[in-house]
Amino acid sequence: MDKTDLTSLPLPRLTEFLVSLGVPKYRGTQVFAWLYRPHITDFTEMTDLPRQLQQTLAERASFAWPEIAGVERSRDGTVKYGFKLRDGSYIEAVLIPEDERNTLCVSSQVGCAMGCEFCLTGSMGFKRNLTAGEIVGQVVRVRDRLCEEEAIAGRNLNNLVFMGMGEPLANFANLVDAIDILVEQRGLDFSERRITVSTCGLVPKIQELGLKTKVNLAVSLHAADDTTRERLMPINRKYPLADLLSACRNFPMPKRKRIMFEYILIQGVNDSVADAELLAEKLRFIPCKINLLPYNESPGLPFRRPVDDVIDIFQKTLWKAGYTVLVRSSRGADISAACGQLACRLAP
Ligand code: SF4
Repeated sequence: MDKTDLTSLPLPRLTEFLVSLGVPKYRGTQVFAWLYRPHITDFTEMTDLPRQLQQTLAERASFAWPEIAGVERSRDGTVKYGFKLRDGSYIEAVLIPEDERNTLCVSSQVGCAMGCEFCLTGSMGFKRNLTAGEIVGQVVRVRDRLCEEEAIAGRNLNNLVFMGMGEPLANFANLVDAIDILVEQRGLDFSERRITVSTCGLVPKIQELGLKTKVNLAVSLHAADDTTRERLMPINRKYPLADLLSACRNFPMPKRKRIMFEYILIQGVNDSVADAELLAEKLRFIPCKINLLPYNESPGLPFRRPVDDVIDIFQKTLWKAGYTVLVRSSRGADISAACGQLACRLAP
Protein backbone atom coordinates (compact mmCIF):
# COMPACT_ATOMS: atom_id res chain seq x y z
CA MET A 1 0.00 0.00 0.00
CA ASP A 2 1.29 3.49 -0.90
CA LYS A 3 2.13 5.58 2.13
CA THR A 4 0.43 8.95 2.54
CA ASP A 5 2.89 11.83 2.25
CA LEU A 6 2.12 14.02 5.27
CA THR A 7 4.29 16.90 4.05
CA SER A 8 1.75 17.77 1.35
CA LEU A 9 -1.29 17.91 3.65
CA PRO A 10 -2.62 21.14 5.15
CA LEU A 11 -3.79 20.70 8.75
CA PRO A 12 -7.49 19.90 8.01
CA ARG A 13 -6.55 17.16 5.51
CA LEU A 14 -3.86 15.77 7.80
CA THR A 15 -6.45 15.62 10.58
CA GLU A 16 -8.91 13.82 8.28
CA PHE A 17 -6.21 11.28 7.51
CA LEU A 18 -5.54 10.65 11.19
CA VAL A 19 -9.24 10.33 11.94
CA SER A 20 -9.41 7.75 9.13
CA LEU A 21 -6.83 5.76 11.11
CA GLY A 22 -9.26 5.70 14.06
CA VAL A 23 -7.51 8.22 16.32
CA PRO A 24 -9.07 11.34 17.91
CA LYS A 25 -9.09 14.58 15.95
CA TYR A 26 -6.72 16.44 18.26
CA ARG A 27 -3.91 14.10 17.23
CA GLY A 28 -3.96 15.82 13.84
CA THR A 29 -2.80 19.11 15.36
CA GLN A 30 -0.21 17.28 17.42
CA VAL A 31 1.33 15.45 14.45
CA PHE A 32 1.20 18.58 12.28
CA ALA A 33 3.05 20.60 14.94
CA TRP A 34 5.75 17.91 15.19
CA LEU A 35 6.33 17.84 11.44
CA TYR A 36 7.36 21.48 11.39
CA ARG A 37 9.66 21.43 14.41
CA PRO A 38 13.33 21.64 13.45
CA HIS A 39 15.17 18.42 12.61
CA ILE A 40 12.36 15.88 13.12
CA THR A 41 13.05 12.86 10.94
CA ASP A 42 11.11 9.97 12.46
CA PHE A 43 7.69 9.30 14.02
CA THR A 44 9.43 7.92 17.13
CA GLU A 45 10.71 11.44 17.81
CA MET A 46 7.10 12.60 18.25
CA THR A 47 7.36 11.74 21.90
CA ASP A 48 3.86 12.59 23.10
CA LEU A 49 2.18 10.24 20.61
CA PRO A 50 1.22 6.76 21.85
CA ARG A 51 3.66 4.10 20.66
CA GLN A 52 0.84 2.34 18.78
CA LEU A 53 0.11 5.50 16.79
CA GLN A 54 3.80 6.00 16.05
CA GLN A 55 3.86 2.49 14.61
CA THR A 56 0.67 2.92 12.58
CA LEU A 57 2.03 6.16 11.14
CA ALA A 58 5.33 4.50 10.23
CA GLU A 59 3.36 1.85 8.31
CA ARG A 60 0.79 4.11 6.63
CA ALA A 61 2.44 7.50 6.29
CA SER A 62 5.74 9.13 5.44
CA PHE A 63 7.42 12.50 5.64
CA ALA A 64 10.72 13.24 3.97
CA TRP A 65 11.82 16.75 3.14
CA PRO A 66 13.92 17.28 0.00
CA GLU A 67 17.63 16.95 0.73
CA ILE A 68 19.96 19.91 0.30
CA ALA A 69 22.39 18.59 -2.34
CA GLY A 70 24.58 21.64 -2.83
CA VAL A 71 25.17 25.14 -1.46
CA GLU A 72 26.81 28.06 -3.21
CA ARG A 73 27.54 31.39 -1.54
CA SER A 74 27.73 34.71 -3.32
CA ARG A 75 30.13 37.51 -2.39
CA ASP A 76 27.08 39.61 -1.48
CA GLY A 77 25.76 37.10 1.08
CA THR A 78 23.16 35.47 -1.16
CA VAL A 79 23.08 31.69 -0.78
CA LYS A 80 21.83 29.28 -3.42
CA TYR A 81 20.60 25.86 -2.27
CA GLY A 82 20.25 22.94 -4.66
CA PHE A 83 17.75 20.26 -3.62
CA LYS A 84 17.60 16.65 -4.71
CA LEU A 85 14.05 15.35 -4.90
CA ARG A 86 12.97 11.77 -4.42
CA ASP A 87 12.67 11.07 -8.15
CA GLY A 88 16.21 12.38 -8.70
CA SER A 89 15.11 15.79 -10.04
CA TYR A 90 16.88 18.95 -8.89
CA ILE A 91 15.50 22.34 -7.96
CA GLU A 92 17.01 25.47 -6.47
CA ALA A 93 16.03 28.06 -3.87
CA VAL A 94 17.85 31.29 -3.06
CA LEU A 95 18.30 32.90 0.35
CA ILE A 96 18.69 36.67 0.28
CA PRO A 97 19.80 38.01 3.67
CA GLU A 98 19.04 41.69 4.23
CA ASP A 99 19.33 43.98 7.25
CA GLU A 100 15.79 43.54 8.44
CA ARG A 101 14.84 40.16 7.06
CA ASN A 102 15.82 36.91 5.41
CA THR A 103 13.99 36.25 2.18
CA LEU A 104 13.81 32.83 0.58
CA CYS A 105 13.00 32.64 -3.11
CA VAL A 106 11.40 29.22 -3.65
CA SER A 107 10.71 27.08 -6.71
CA SER A 108 7.29 25.72 -7.62
CA GLN A 109 8.12 23.44 -10.56
CA VAL A 110 11.01 21.42 -11.95
CA GLY A 111 11.83 23.57 -14.97
CA CYS A 112 9.15 25.75 -16.53
CA ALA A 113 6.87 25.54 -19.55
CA MET A 114 6.47 29.28 -20.03
CA GLY A 115 9.55 29.74 -22.20
CA CYS A 116 10.37 33.37 -21.37
CA GLU A 117 13.21 34.30 -23.69
CA PHE A 118 15.42 35.93 -21.06
CA CYS A 119 15.19 33.11 -18.51
CA LEU A 120 17.55 30.17 -18.04
CA THR A 121 14.88 28.14 -16.23
CA GLY A 122 12.61 28.58 -19.23
CA SER A 123 15.33 27.22 -21.49
CA MET A 124 15.35 23.95 -19.43
CA GLY A 125 11.79 23.14 -20.44
CA PHE A 126 9.17 21.73 -18.09
CA LYS A 127 9.71 18.50 -16.16
CA ARG A 128 6.98 18.38 -13.51
CA ASN A 129 5.07 20.21 -10.80
CA LEU A 130 6.42 20.17 -7.27
CA THR A 131 4.21 18.68 -4.59
CA ALA A 132 3.10 20.99 -1.79
CA GLY A 133 5.57 19.13 0.44
CA GLU A 134 8.45 19.77 -1.96
CA ILE A 135 7.61 23.48 -1.98
CA VAL A 136 7.32 23.72 1.81
CA GLY A 137 10.36 21.44 2.17
CA GLN A 138 12.63 24.12 0.69
CA VAL A 139 11.54 26.42 3.51
CA VAL A 140 11.88 23.73 6.19
CA ARG A 141 15.40 22.74 5.11
CA VAL A 142 16.70 26.31 4.82
CA ARG A 143 15.06 27.24 8.15
CA ASP A 144 16.91 24.31 9.75
CA ARG A 145 20.19 25.43 8.19
CA LEU A 146 19.66 28.98 9.45
CA CYS A 147 19.11 27.65 12.96
CA GLU A 148 22.55 26.02 12.72
CA GLU A 149 24.51 28.83 11.08
CA GLU A 150 25.97 31.44 13.33
CA ALA A 151 26.42 33.91 10.48
CA ILE A 152 22.75 34.72 10.28
CA ALA A 153 21.72 33.51 13.69
CA GLY A 154 19.04 35.48 15.44
CA ARG A 155 17.29 36.34 12.22
CA ASN A 156 14.80 33.76 11.09
CA LEU A 157 13.46 33.15 7.67
CA ASN A 158 10.61 35.64 7.56
CA ASN A 159 9.88 36.50 3.95
CA LEU A 160 9.02 34.16 1.08
CA VAL A 161 8.81 34.90 -2.61
CA PHE A 162 7.63 32.42 -5.24
CA MET A 163 10.04 33.64 -7.87
CA GLY A 164 12.32 30.63 -8.25
CA MET A 165 12.02 27.93 -10.89
CA GLY A 166 8.60 27.52 -12.45
CA GLU A 167 5.34 29.41 -12.83
CA PRO A 168 3.56 29.06 -9.47
CA LEU A 169 0.05 29.63 -10.85
CA ALA A 170 0.56 26.74 -13.29
CA ASN A 171 0.83 24.50 -10.22
CA PHE A 172 -2.14 26.10 -8.55
CA ALA A 173 -3.61 23.41 -6.29
CA ASN A 174 -0.22 22.50 -4.82
CA LEU A 175 0.69 26.18 -4.45
CA VAL A 176 -2.47 26.88 -2.44
CA ASP A 177 -1.88 23.78 -0.27
CA ALA A 178 1.72 24.90 0.32
CA ILE A 179 0.56 28.38 1.35
CA ASP A 180 -2.04 26.86 3.70
CA ILE A 181 0.71 24.79 5.31
CA LEU A 182 3.17 27.70 5.54
CA VAL A 183 0.73 30.06 7.28
CA GLU A 184 -0.67 27.52 9.74
CA GLN A 185 0.04 28.89 13.22
CA ARG A 186 0.69 25.46 14.67
CA GLY A 187 3.42 24.88 12.13
CA LEU A 188 5.72 27.34 10.40
CA ASP A 189 3.38 30.26 11.12
CA PHE A 190 4.33 32.54 8.22
CA SER A 191 2.39 35.73 7.78
CA GLU A 192 0.53 35.90 4.46
CA ARG A 193 1.69 39.52 4.28
CA ARG A 194 5.24 38.14 4.02
CA ILE A 195 4.52 35.78 1.13
CA THR A 196 4.60 36.99 -2.47
CA VAL A 197 3.54 34.91 -5.46
CA SER A 198 4.90 36.03 -8.78
CA THR A 199 3.27 35.18 -12.10
CA CYS A 200 4.21 35.74 -15.70
CA GLY A 201 0.51 36.35 -16.37
CA LEU A 202 -1.74 33.28 -16.08
CA VAL A 203 -4.80 35.51 -16.12
CA PRO A 204 -7.57 33.06 -15.07
CA LYS A 205 -5.65 32.03 -11.95
CA ILE A 206 -4.89 35.57 -10.72
CA GLN A 207 -8.39 36.23 -9.43
CA GLU A 208 -8.55 32.74 -7.92
CA LEU A 209 -5.31 33.35 -6.03
CA GLY A 210 -6.80 36.52 -4.54
CA LEU A 211 -9.94 34.66 -3.51
CA LYS A 212 -8.20 31.63 -1.99
CA THR A 213 -5.30 33.35 -0.20
CA LYS A 214 -4.24 36.74 1.10
CA VAL A 215 -0.69 36.65 -0.21
CA ASN A 216 0.90 39.47 -2.18
CA LEU A 217 0.82 39.40 -5.97
CA ALA A 218 3.82 40.18 -8.15
CA VAL A 219 3.48 40.28 -11.93
CA SER A 220 6.41 39.86 -14.30
CA LEU A 221 5.52 42.47 -16.87
CA HIS A 222 8.78 43.28 -18.67
CA ALA A 223 7.13 45.24 -21.49
CA ALA A 224 4.32 47.76 -21.88
CA ASP A 225 3.26 46.79 -25.40
CA ASP A 226 2.07 43.47 -26.76
CA THR A 227 4.64 43.18 -29.54
CA THR A 228 7.63 43.45 -27.20
CA ARG A 229 5.99 41.34 -24.51
CA GLU A 230 5.15 38.59 -26.98
CA ARG A 231 8.74 38.54 -28.10
CA LEU A 232 9.96 38.15 -24.52
CA MET A 233 7.13 36.10 -23.03
CA PRO A 234 5.11 33.65 -25.15
CA ILE A 235 2.30 33.65 -22.54
CA ASN A 236 1.35 37.10 -23.83
CA ARG A 237 -0.07 35.49 -27.00
CA LYS A 238 -2.64 33.69 -24.91
CA TYR A 239 -3.24 36.44 -22.36
CA PRO A 240 -2.40 39.83 -23.85
CA LEU A 241 -1.57 42.87 -21.76
CA ALA A 242 -5.11 44.27 -21.69
CA ASP A 243 -6.42 41.02 -20.15
CA LEU A 244 -3.53 40.80 -17.72
CA LEU A 245 -3.89 44.38 -16.51
CA SER A 246 -7.64 43.99 -16.19
CA ALA A 247 -7.06 40.92 -13.96
CA CYS A 248 -4.67 43.04 -11.89
CA ARG A 249 -7.24 45.83 -11.56
CA ASN A 250 -9.76 43.28 -10.28
CA PHE A 251 -7.36 41.46 -7.97
CA PRO A 252 -9.04 41.35 -4.56
CA MET A 253 -6.79 43.11 -2.02
CA PRO A 254 -7.12 45.21 1.08
CA LYS A 255 -6.99 48.97 0.61
CA ARG A 256 -3.38 49.72 1.36
CA LYS A 257 -1.95 46.72 -0.43
CA ARG A 258 -0.29 47.10 -3.81
CA ILE A 259 0.63 44.82 -6.67
CA MET A 260 4.33 44.56 -7.46
CA PHE A 261 5.16 44.83 -11.15
CA GLU A 262 8.53 43.38 -12.07
CA TYR A 263 10.19 44.88 -15.12
CA ILE A 264 13.49 43.49 -16.36
CA LEU A 265 15.32 46.26 -18.20
CA ILE A 266 16.99 44.92 -21.33
CA GLN A 267 19.23 47.04 -23.49
CA GLY A 268 17.55 48.20 -26.69
CA VAL A 269 14.48 46.02 -26.08
CA ASN A 270 12.30 47.72 -23.45
CA ASP A 271 14.44 50.45 -21.86
CA SER A 272 13.56 53.64 -23.78
CA VAL A 273 11.84 56.74 -22.40
CA ALA A 274 8.89 55.92 -24.66
CA ASP A 275 8.71 52.47 -23.00
CA ALA A 276 8.69 54.08 -19.56
CA GLU A 277 5.96 56.54 -20.57
CA LEU A 278 3.83 53.77 -22.03
CA LEU A 279 4.32 51.71 -18.87
CA ALA A 280 3.20 54.67 -16.76
CA GLU A 281 0.10 55.02 -18.90
CA LYS A 282 -0.77 51.31 -18.83
CA LEU A 283 -0.49 50.97 -15.05
CA ARG A 284 -2.61 54.04 -14.35
CA PHE A 285 -5.24 53.38 -11.64
CA ILE A 286 -3.68 50.08 -10.50
CA PRO A 287 -2.43 50.34 -6.90
CA CYS A 288 1.13 49.21 -7.49
CA LYS A 289 4.86 49.46 -7.00
CA ILE A 290 7.34 48.90 -9.79
CA ASN A 291 10.57 46.94 -9.42
CA LEU A 292 13.09 47.62 -12.15
CA LEU A 293 15.55 44.75 -12.57
CA PRO A 294 18.54 45.52 -14.76
CA TYR A 295 19.05 42.34 -16.78
CA ASN A 296 21.43 39.73 -15.35
CA GLU A 297 23.45 38.60 -18.30
CA SER A 298 23.65 34.81 -18.71
CA PRO A 299 25.94 32.91 -21.07
CA GLY A 300 24.01 31.65 -24.07
CA LEU A 301 21.28 34.29 -23.91
CA PRO A 302 21.50 37.26 -26.28
CA PHE A 303 20.27 40.06 -23.99
CA ARG A 304 22.35 42.80 -22.37
CA ARG A 305 22.01 45.02 -19.33
CA PRO A 306 21.38 48.71 -20.09
CA VAL A 307 23.99 51.25 -18.94
CA ASP A 308 23.34 53.01 -15.60
CA ASP A 309 22.25 56.32 -17.18
CA VAL A 310 19.51 54.60 -19.15
CA ILE A 311 18.27 52.83 -16.01
CA ASP A 312 18.30 56.13 -14.16
CA ILE A 313 16.27 57.96 -16.82
CA PHE A 314 13.75 55.09 -16.96
CA GLN A 315 13.26 55.26 -13.21
CA LYS A 316 12.93 59.05 -13.17
CA THR A 317 10.32 58.98 -15.95
CA LEU A 318 8.19 56.67 -13.81
CA TRP A 319 8.80 58.76 -10.68
CA LYS A 320 7.59 61.85 -12.49
CA ALA A 321 4.42 59.97 -13.39
CA GLY A 322 3.85 59.39 -9.65
CA TYR A 323 4.91 55.76 -9.22
CA THR A 324 6.89 54.13 -6.44
CA VAL A 325 9.83 52.65 -8.32
CA LEU A 326 12.80 50.72 -7.03
CA VAL A 327 15.82 49.60 -8.99
CA ARG A 328 16.49 46.23 -7.44
CA SER A 329 20.15 45.55 -7.08
CA SER A 330 21.10 42.23 -8.52
CA ARG A 331 21.82 39.70 -5.76
CA GLY A 332 23.74 36.50 -6.31
CA ALA A 333 24.61 37.10 -9.98
CA ASP A 334 28.12 35.64 -9.43
CA ILE A 335 26.59 32.27 -8.47
CA SER A 336 23.78 32.37 -11.06
CA ALA A 337 21.24 32.91 -8.32
CA ALA A 338 19.82 36.17 -9.63
CA CYS A 339 16.45 36.52 -11.30
CA GLY A 340 16.04 34.27 -14.34
CA GLN A 341 19.35 32.50 -13.73
CA LEU A 342 18.20 29.37 -11.90
CA ALA A 343 18.96 26.35 -14.01
CA CYS A 344 20.21 23.73 -11.57
CA ARG A 345 23.89 24.39 -11.99
CA LEU A 346 24.26 22.69 -8.57
CA ALA A 347 23.00 19.40 -9.92
CA PRO A 348 25.87 16.92 -10.26
FE1 SF4 B 1 9.16 30.37 -16.17
FE2 SF4 B 1 9.41 32.55 -14.64
FE3 SF4 B 1 11.42 31.75 -16.23
FE4 SF4 B 1 9.21 32.76 -17.34
S1 SF4 B 1 10.64 33.85 -15.99
S2 SF4 B 1 10.33 30.91 -18.01
S3 SF4 B 1 7.64 32.00 -15.92
S4 SF4 B 1 10.62 30.63 -14.47
